[in-house]
This record gives sequence, C-alpha cells and structure tokens, in this order.
Amino acid sequence: MTESPTPHIEPPLELLDALTSVRKPLLIAHISPDGDAIGSLTALGYLLYRMGKDPILACQDKAPATFNFLPFYDRIVQRVDERPDIIIALDSSDPTRMGTIYEEERFNGLPLIVIDHHITNVFFGDINWVEPTCCATDEMIYYLAKALKEPLDETLATALLTGIVTDTRGFRTYNVTPEVMHITGELIDAGAPLAMITERTLDTRSMALIVLWGRVLDTVEFADGVISAVNSMAMRQDLEGIIRAEGLVSFILSAQEAKIAAVFTEMPDGKVECSFRARRGYDVSRIAVQLGGGGHPPAAGCTLDGDISSVRRRVVEMLRQEIREKSMSKLVKE
Ligand code: 5GP
Ligand code: MN
Repeated sequence: MTESPTPHIEPPLELLDALTSVRKPLLIAHISPDGDAIGSLTALGYLLYRMGKDPILACQDKAPATFNFLPFYDRIVQRVDERPDIIIALDSSDPTRMGTIYEEERFNGLPLIVIDHHITNVFFGDINWVEPTCCATDEMIYYLAKALKEPLDETLATALLTGIVTDTRGFRTYNVTPEVMHITGELIDAGAPLAMITERTLDTRSMALIVLWGRVLDTVEFADGVISAVNSMAMRQDLEGIIRAEGLVSFILSAQEAKIAAVFTEMPDGKVECSFRARRGYDVSRIAVQLGGGGHPPAAGCTLDGDISSVRRRVVEMLRQEIREKSMSKLVKE
C-alpha cells in the first residue's frame, strides 16, 4: 500500500525537541482509562522506548484487562517511584484527569506536556498540543511518529489503531475523515489487526456487564428528547469488580426519539459520574464544562457530589434546556 498523503497536522517543534532530548519521560493516561487513553499511553511509551528512552507509563486506575494485548500493558504503574525528567499528559483535558499520579509538589518544576484532542482542554501544560479535529489522541501520536520520522511496526500500529477504533466506536463518529481512513489503511498494512481490536474492545463484554445493562435499562426514562438511566451501588452489589455500565450510554442514544442520552453512575466514593452522548447538532461538552467536566460535543462527562436521584433530576433538566435552545435557534434560522 502507498503511504498516506503527508499529514496536514504537525506537532509543534518544541514538542519534537523535548521528546528527542528527553531521557526518562513520565507518561500519564487519564483516570478511568478508555481505549484511547491506554492506546495513546502504550503507543507513545513504545515509540519512546524504541527511540532509546526509558519511559514510565502510569495511570491512577488499573487498565482494564480488555487492553492486555497492547505493548507494555504490564508495565503500566499506578504509583510512580522514580524521578522523571519530563511529564506528558495524554487524552486529558484538565489536570484533575491525571488523578493521583500527578503530585503537584513532587513534580513541581518539571516540564509538563499536554497531548490531547478534547475541545474542552484548558491548556494546563508548558507545551500544549491540542487538536480537537482529531478523532483520537492516538491519531495525534501517529502524526508525532511521522514527524519524528519513526517507522510504523506491528506493535506501534496496534496501539495506534486501538485508540482510533475505540474513540470512534468503530469509525461511526463524524470526526472520521478520509485522512483517518488513510491512516487506518496504513496501520493495517503495518500489521495492526483491525478485526481483533474491534472484537476485543467493542464486541466483548463480561457476563456481569450484560446483567448490569439489564438492570440499568430497567431505569430508563425519556422526555423531551433526553433519555437517561441510573446505575446505583445497590444495583451491582452482587456483581463483583464492575462499576460502569460500559457502552450503555451510546446504546440508549440509539432510541429513535432521543437527541441526548445520559447515564448516572453512583461511585464507591459517593460521587456521581455523569456520562453524556448527543446526536449531531447537539453539544453535551458545554454542559459538562458548566458542571466541572469536559469532553467532545457528542460525548462528554463530569463527576458531581449529591445523591444520584437529585443529580439525575437536575442534570436531565439542563440537558432538556440544551435541546430547547437548539430547537429555538433552528426555528429562528428557518
Ligand atoms: P465517557 O462517557 O466515555 O466516560 O466519557 C466521554 C468523554 O467525556 C471522554 O472524552 C472523556 O474524556 C470525557 N469525560 C468524561 N468524564 C469526564 C470528567 O469528569 N471530566 C472531564 N474533563 N472529562 C470527562
Ligand atoms: Mn480520546
């Protein structure tokens, strides 16, 4: 296969310089990591390792076993003992997303690099490379490898394709451009197993998760374009090692009448994790930011204090308001 056309996105030169001269970078993926967090962590970790560096790969929460086919999966730590010389935050739109890994006092003075594709990114690094048009942070790591003139190999291509497949839910999102498809072709050509990645990350669920989906689906409510459901601690008491009803929020948005979907998860620390999805034309990232979270227009989230039913009531009302405003502005335009 021919190479993709020259990428139209180029990393900042100061980033390339920093990565070339670094010795022991600390790479941090966001808390509750998804495929793009772990994909970009392992892709960049492997790339830097291949360049002769000694990267530390870290994430506050253990990477789900789903991703154990990725390079350096076993080397991802939940605590950092060594002293890095630079810190790189991946797929993280604000510093809280780094969780307990980023210890302000201990790492004070070390250069912080942010590599992210969230439009809600708050530019919290010394170098901020933020590309909201990219479908995944892993797409950005591909451009980084190209700019560093580093060849793809099967291992790197597999980690890169994992973030692209998972963040686009299998190429279903509007940010999948012809360039993403070119890149995907190149990654497959380099040995990335597309069907295996899709099967492992999108089409495999534990039996317990299926059971939880059933219970959470039982709580579905719909009004004024907003479909919502709750996942409380009590509902999963007998389901060991499972918290989120992973994937369910996208599924309930498939209801024909729904414009916005929300799932509220009661966490072990008592906080409520809110997960939002929107159809094209609606923007849930705005509401997530208002509530202290972040994300993308079609997929965003936040974490709130309060009991799960009152959080649901309050947030669903805000989501309905977003729909009303959009309908009003459509009427005005027409
Ligand atoms: P999910 O619903 O899959 O957990 O998250 C959807 C999107 O929203 C992801 O891009 C994720 O990074 C972002 N997101 C989810 N929760 C939070 C949050 O509490 N804070 C921020 N900043 N972003 C979030
Ligand atoms: Mn991402």
